[in-house]
Amino acid sequence: MSMQGKVALVTGGTGGIGTAICKKLAAAGAKVVATYIGDEGQAKDWQAKMAADGVDAMIVACDVSSFDDCKAMGDTLNAEMGGVDILVNNAGITKDGTFRKMSADQWNAVLTVNLDSVFNVTKQFVDGMMTKGWGRVINISSINGQKGQFGQTNYSAAKAGMHGFSMALAQETAKKGVTVNSVSPGYIGTEMVMAVPEEVRNQIVAQIPVGRLGKPDEIAALVTFLASDDAAFITGANIAANGGQHMC
Ligand code: NDP
Repeated sequence: MSMQGKVALVTGGTGGIGTAICKKLAAAGAKVVATYIGDEGQAKDWQAKMAADGVDAMIVACDVSSFDDCKAMGDTLNAEMGGVDILVNNAGITKDGTFRKMSADQWNAVLTVNLDSVFNVTKQFVDGMMTKGWGRVINISSINGQKGQFGQTNYSAAKAGMHGFSMALAQETAKKGVTVNSVSPGYIGTEMVMAVPEEVRNQIVAQIPVGRLGKPDEIAALVTFLASDDAAFITGANIAANGGQHMC
């Protein structure tokens, strides 16, 4: 599965799942660029840790909810890296609350970071992929976009919207060698999920037929396969990786 010569952009690449995706794409030979929004020092520490693990990753600050930020990033990467071949729209946030209590701010934050971002970032690179006749767009959705989740009308709507986007864009780009797919992880043992009290985590695990949380590496492996030449016939799909928690 050689990705030599390919440039892979992973939004939120410094996060839990993003880090695993960056490592696997780099191991397959891609030149990896990770976006971050937080502290520059932390992003540099992340980059140093990746280097210690043998991964030469670039970092770029970008608020994916801002079209202007994404345009600036796109202009730079298109000029300096010759575009992006593999785009993983992975950045995401939650701001949970029951619908009756949910504020417009909670709604807007989750919709802009999880869904508008997919437009903002993909817009910068799809023309280049179609011109080259090869490209991969992989959108990290969620089990909760497939089944809904109490307290997550905003997140479930955004994540379901990502897959609508994937299906529509897949039809527009298929003839030009550009595939567009969604990946819908179930509960993954990232720092955020591992910080949940053990008793609550055990209740979550009890709902997962495989009997455990997913691993970031398992999502990364699926993303890396979708990014490969071998996955050229898979487009417009939403692939679940949830240990059997939700089947559809
Ligand atoms: P993390 O919180 O570890 O990573 C999310 C990343 O998104 C962080 O790197 C964060 O950057 C970045 N980010 C947040 N807001 C913005 C923004 N406005 N602009 C740019 N980047 C931003 O979460 P996970 O790794 O767990 O999640 C990755 C994806 O997987 C998300 O889309 C999530 O919804 C999805 N997912 C996760 C599941 C899980 O169980 N963990 C299950 C199903 C789906 P920074 O650190 O700099 O703030």
